[in-house]
Amino acid sequence: MKFFLASKNAGKIREFERIFASLGTELVSENDLDEKMPEPREDGETFTDNALIKARAGAAFTGLPTVADDSGLCVDALGGKPGVYSARYAGEHGDDAANNAKLLAELDGVPVPERTAHYVCVIACVFPDGREFTVSGFCKGRIDFFESGKGGFGYDPLFISPAGKFSEITSEQKDAVSHRGKAIRSFTEELKKYL
Ligand code: IMP
Repeated sequence: MKFFLASKNAGKIREFERIFASLGTELVSENDLDEKMPEPREDGETFTDNALIKARAGAAFTGLPTVADDSGLCVDALGGKPGVYSARYAGEHGDDAANNAKLLAELDGVPVPERTAHYVCVIACVFPDGREFTVSGFCKGRIDFFESGKGGFGYDPLFISPAGKFSEITSEQKDAVSHRGKAIRSFTEELKKYL
C-alpha cells in the first residue's frame, strides 16, 4: 500500500519516511506530486480538526491513504495560547524569532510556578474509503525567561522539559519525551492494524 504525506516540510518528511520504510510501505509527499496540491484552510479549533482537514484534503486530491500532522504549544498562563496559532502567533507563518519574542513579552512578570505549558502533536490518517484515525502526543514543561541553545526549532529555545531545554538536548533525547516522538510511536502501532 502506498501512502501520501500531506506536507512539504523536509524535517517531517524525513521522520515519516523512516517510519514507513520500517513498515515496508512506500510514502510520497507533496514534493513528489506533478500537480501542486491546493492548500486547505486550516481553520479548525483544535489540533485534531486541523490534522484531519489536511489529511482529508490530501486523500481527496491524491486518492491515496494520507497522513498529516498538526502541532503547537499551549501555555497555561495564556489560556492555552498560542495553541493552534503557534506557527503564526506573531503574525507571519513560521517566524520563530518573532513568535518567541511575543511569548516572552506576554509572560513578562509571570513567576516560575505559573509558566507551565505543554506541546501537542496530533497525527491523522485518512483512507480513500472513509476510514480515519488520529493519535496524539503531549509533552509537559515550562517557559523559561530567556532564549538559549542552538538545537530544535520553533519555541524550543524557551521550552524546558523534564529532560532539559529542548534546544539544549540531543534530538534522540528530545524524541524520547517529545509530543511528536510520542505521537509517532502511537501512530506506528495504530497503523499496523490497517496494513
Ligand atoms: P505545524 O507545522 O502546523 O504543525 O506548526 C507547528 C508550530 O508549532 C511550529 O511552527 C512551532 O511554532 C510549534 N511547534 C510544534 N512542535 C514544536 C517543537 O517540537 N518545537 C518547537 N516548536 C514546535
